[in-house]
Amino acid sequence: MTGTSSYPHLFEPLDLGFTTIKNRALMGSMHTGLEEAPGGFGRMAAYYAERAQGGVGMIITGGFGPNHESGGLAKLETDEEVTQHRMITSAVHDAAPDAKICMQILHMGPLAWTDECLAPSPVRSRVGMFAPQEMSEEVIEKQLKDFENCAVQAREAGYDGVEVIGSAGYLLSTFLVEKTNQRTDQWGGSYENRMRFPLEVMRRIRAAVGNDFILVFRIAAMDMLQGGMSWDEVVTLAKKMEEVGVNIISTHFVWHEAAVPTIATMVPRAAFAGVTGRLRKELSIPTITSNRINMPDTAEEVLARGDADIVSMARPMLADAELVNKAATGRADEINTCIACNQACLDHTFAGKEVSCLVNPRACHETQLSYDAAVTPKSIAVVGAGPAGLNYATIAAQRGHKVTLIDASDEIGGQFNLAKQIPGKEEFYETLRYFGRMIELHGIDLRLKTRATAEMLKDGGYDEIVIATGIEPRVPDLEGIDHPMVKTYIDVIQGKAEVGRRVAIMGAGGIGFDVAELISHKGKSAALDIDIFAKEWGIDFEHHPRGGVTGIEPVVEKADREVTLLQRKATPVGRGLGKTTGWTHRLTMRRRDVKMINGVEYLRINDAGLHVMIGNEPQVLDVDTVIVCAGQTPLRELYDELDGSGMSVHLVGGAFEASELDAKRAINQASYLAAAI
Ligand code: FAD
Ligand code: NAP
Ligand code: SF4
Repeated sequence: MTGTSSYPHLFEPLDLGFTTIKNRALMGSMHTGLEEAPGGFGRMAAYYAERAQGGVGMIITGGFGPNHESGGLAKLETDEEVTQHRMITSAVHDAAPDAKICMQILHMGPLAWTDECLAPSPVRSRVGMFAPQEMSEEVIEKQLKDFENCAVQAREAGYDGVEVIGSAGYLLSTFLVEKTNQRTDQWGGSYENRMRFPLEVMRRIRAAVGNDFILVFRIAAMDMLQGGMSWDEVVTLAKKMEEVGVNIISTHFVWHEAAVPTIATMVPRAAFAGVTGRLRKELSIPTITSNRINMPDTAEEVLARGDADIVSMARPMLADAELVNKAATGRADEINTCIACNQACLDHTFAGKEVSCLVNPRACHETQLSYDAAVTPKSIAVVGAGPAGLNYATIAAQRGHKVTLIDASDEIGGQFNLAKQIPGKEEFYETLRYFGRMIELHGIDLRLKTRATAEMLKDGGYDEIVIATGIEPRVPDLEGIDHPMVKTYIDVIQGKAEVGRRVAIMGAGGIGFDVAELISHKGKSAALDIDIFAKEWGIDFEHHPRGGVTGIEPVVEKADREVTLLQRKATPVGRGLGKTTGWTHRLTMRRRDVKMINGVEYLRINDAGLHVMIGNEPQVLDVDTVIVCAGQTPLRELYDELDGSGMSVHLVGGAFEASELDAKRAINQASYLAAAI
């Protein structure tokens, strides 16, 4: 079977009565940063149009506020703003007349980026910038009118519908939960009263926009809060939403302040779809599920199990605009899969930067980075098949250049072959599958087990040479660094070095944490097993206590080993990790009793262990293994040999600059260079 017949549920149209969504693939809402950027609407138009052309049934835009106090960010309120939004809707409908686009209405409530932010009660969120003002009756009425106006303007702007977000700790959800709604008037107290505001928002919108406009309500089906919503409350709210005219219930699984990862790469695929499935049984309108559904086979399984009517994929659409068309035409193996790293998307959002994608730097940069056919095809040698070399080779070959890709190893991938072995990073296999397929598809001449030399390259008749030879691990200048107890992270990850029971890790960057994860973990990777994941994070999917987590203690399996993670800097250990994922790694290490020590001076290593100075106090860490994770230096002898030879030689990735290098930078740099050659 190929194409649509492989995914019969995914490609089944969904009839909403007054309109039909052509398939069950939804591009879920994601703030991109373009909403507020100068010229951002033109860029968003291109970004969404490419996804519509890529076959998605329906798009939900990033959130727009109904007024200033709702966010301090982009909004849809005035006629002038309607004109801007028309750029998006007409681009999408021109690109694919049968694709739908809805706008998300986002009232951030206590999480708004303005000191005028509002909430039912003046309860500051753990992740909010400001203490919110309690909403008076007049203010409540103004917000209701503004929601109504925003939806009417969205219709005017050419959207097919709106989604209102009622989850995540934004305004509507704070009415529902007692912790954030301490009112004693008609908007607080009983659950009936706490539901009143969200229901009134949707009732008024429906009355204002008419019946032939898609209305989606995003519900916190499991908010992951201690004392959060009970299952009965979730079901009651969803049923009431149905009564007030909502067409589709979209399930969401977390408040931003909750301490449970729900989209990071360590979360199993479709981990929360079963919750949507239970809710779906209670309703007669369609439901959307989401979170860690990144490939068509996972989407198909979810739909076939009856867990949802529509599958939302937000980040996967950043990673590959053509995901749906590739699935439809039997080319799922060509999909550039979202690895759920958050490095170029959510980490950027929370740092106030424009979003893109680690594996696809064109995402949100469609008007700035294009891979046009080469005017003069050249013969190019790319040395190194790590992320930088692979990406360069793929784009150059796709543009029509003749590419030879050389790697000393017996497999493509460079350091990704180490990354993929870390529990929770299994998605890296997908990136390697993607590049493997691109090499075949674009006829790249791949030469593995071949160490490139200057002579080989000089004699090869190439027009351009790209050096993507990566890095070598830094070896600290320390007495005893050649002691037999000292191991490199490469040998440890590859299983070539024995690791003892008392271990010190020198260096607490991304690799130090990954090595700590590898050696402190026991049993199957939680990312591959929903039950283990639920146990580790204290989620009870079966009984659904309040928030899914109330009263459940996380149970963590750990290796029989004492691990100490060290760094010289005085900053908290792990501060440099990803903004949206770093906390999960730090918490996991704490739960596994990994000691994390900062402000360390390394003195020497000998049979007694690792000698250090911590806060002017000399100490000997009585360890039997020291693993060095002390960063990297560029590997560029080959470049140095060729430089000045008269050949056209380029450096990319770790070979160009190893300091603070990650795959995001390596792939981004390679993409821009390969687009320009
Ligand atoms: P490399 O990946 O080092 O590839 C260089 C390639 O060149 C190798 O395949 C090598 O065999 C080849 N080569 C070298 N010399 C020659 C020669 N003379 N002839 C032929 N071939 C040669 N980054 C992230 O962004 N996110 C992560 O979550 C992440 N996790 C990581 C986890 C681990 C355990 C490790 C080790 C790294 C991780 N990284 C991560 C870092 C990321 O993998 C690197 O930044 C990236 O691989 C650098 O890409 P590169 O192509 O420049 O070099
Ligand atoms: P890194 O993040 O730069 O960390 C290197 C560590 O080594 C630091 O803790 C540094 O801290 C220490 N160090 C540096 N020089 C040293 C020396 N001479 N002696 C002893 N210690 C020294 O690099 P990395 O951990 O090797 O990771 C490489 C890249 O891969 C990084 O850019 C990282 O972002 C990326 N990566 C990302 C992830 C992810 O999940 N996003 C995971 C793995 C890797 P002190 O100087 O304070 O000791
Ligand atoms: Fe997915 Fe990472 Fe790209 Fe975000 S940056 S879309 S998480 S691959």
